[in-house]
Amino acid sequence: MVLQELGDKLTGALRRLQTTTVVNDDVLNDLLQDVCRALVESDVNIKVVATLRKGIKEKVNLADAPAGLNRRKMVQRAVMEELVRLVDSGTKPYQMKKGKSNVIMFVGLQGSGKTTTIAKYANYYQRKGWKTCMVCADTFRAGAFDQLKQNATKLRVPFYGSYTEADPVRIAEEGVQQFRSEGYEVIIVDTSGRHKQEEALFEEMKEIQAAVRPDNVVYVMDATQGQAVFDQAQGFHQAATVGSVIVTKLDGHAKGGGALSAVAATGAPIIFLGSGEHFDDLDVFNPGSFISRLLGLGDMRGFLEEVSSLGAREGGKERQEAMAQRLVKGQFTLRDMYEQFENVMKLGPLSKVMGMLPGFPSFLMGGGEGGRGGQDEAATGRLKRFLTMMDSMTDAELDGKVDLNKSESRVNRIARGSGAHPMEVQFLLKTYAQFSQMFKKMGPMMLKGGEGGIQR
Ligand code: GDP
Repeated sequence: MVLQELGDKLTGALRRLQTTTVVNDDVLNDLLQDVCRALVESDVNIKVVATLRKGIKEKVNLADAPAGLNRRKMVQRAVMEELVRLVDSGTKPYQMKKGKSNVIMFVGLQGSGKTTTIAKYANYYQRKGWKTCMVCADTFRAGAFDQLKQNATKLRVPFYGSYTEADPVRIAEEGVQQFRSEGYEVIIVDTSGRHKQEEALFEEMKEIQAAVRPDNVVYVMDATQGQAVFDQAQGFHQAATVGSVIVTKLDGHAKGGGALSAVAATGAPIIFLGSGEHFDDLDVFNPGSFISRLLGLGDMRGFLEEVSSLGAREGGKERQEAMAQRLVKGQFTLRDMYEQFENVMKLGPLSKVMGMLPGFPSFLMGGGEGGRGGQDEAATGRLKRFLTMMDSMTDAELDGKVDLNKSESRVNRIARGSGAHPMEVQFLLKTYAQFSQMFKKMGPMMLKGGEGGIQR
């Protein structure tokens, strides 16, 4: 989770609100003080924090609140809404179109993490079944093509570039043309960076832009500079009509809040966050979901959207929508759990997905040697074992038409059929009970966009 420290402080402040007996102006002022202090400590601009404070105060009028109104909820909702506004640019980012060539041009200063981010971005789309490729039009930095080539080879993504051609515009044009004619859906163009914003960089960007006519220009920006990025982001936004921003190096960086709110203030939407050096360390960014996760509420909506976008299976999207409808009504069957486990494994490393599901039983994670990779492997193994047991269940059992907790013979039959011990089946049922409880409690609330409360 990025911005863990800020998240902990905000959650702490809101939790204190839960424990007070009366919600009055003093309590509200204390809460505002805690929230504002946490934001300033995360390097959010002091004026921006003052606006947020004002926005909350305007929304919450405790003196005139009608009797019977849940004041605690009113305060929580106002805080949540204003936090979302803080990181929301108010602009919709480009939507990738399936079955068409989407040309995505990457720009940014040297060292911002552009090349690494391109690899993560390619990995993200390729994993979801998009035909993805890369073009290296960075002829400025020695070794840029080699770095891109190495990443592309690791990811098994086709690439285009040249060791001899010095004209980046020509390479970009030829590469994009070739991949377009071959029907590639996500064509990523890497461009040169410079150490600082300068005319030559902006000129080159404009020429490449004119030559390849990108559908989206993505600006990659380093979060470690905090709110100082505002001028930079604005400069790029104006020079290259930047369509979206990816903020990198947010992992464990205390100034991240400053960077995110500064970018949002330029009006360019943030689409992803870089949270580490591995190809998987890329988190989809959506203001509402981000704040929800920051406050430890998980992101059921984002999770379901991610899962539906996999499109890996026939009718997958429709099934997810049907499940979302059932969740709103508080229904969750063993078959739903089966499908979620299958999807979770397709989404990428389990440790990433967990942040979206706050109630995901922690015993499913953990264990396994070798750090996060080992843990992911151990957890995947556990999920696979669950799937095998559920494969031995009948339709009626999966659809919740019989109560397995009341039938030892059914449990024994499932165990025999899947080569498991009956205790393992019991453990699966216990996990299901936990999941089901979490979905029933959180599902409807989260699907409505986190409305209604911060309560845990
Ligand atoms: P470029 O010059 O903009 O292409 O930057 P690179 O992609 O070569 O990245 C510069 C350095 O930042 C490398 O050491 C990367 O591993 C590192 N880096 C990139 N993104 C992230 C991130 O999200 N988190 C962390 N911790 N490091 C990153």
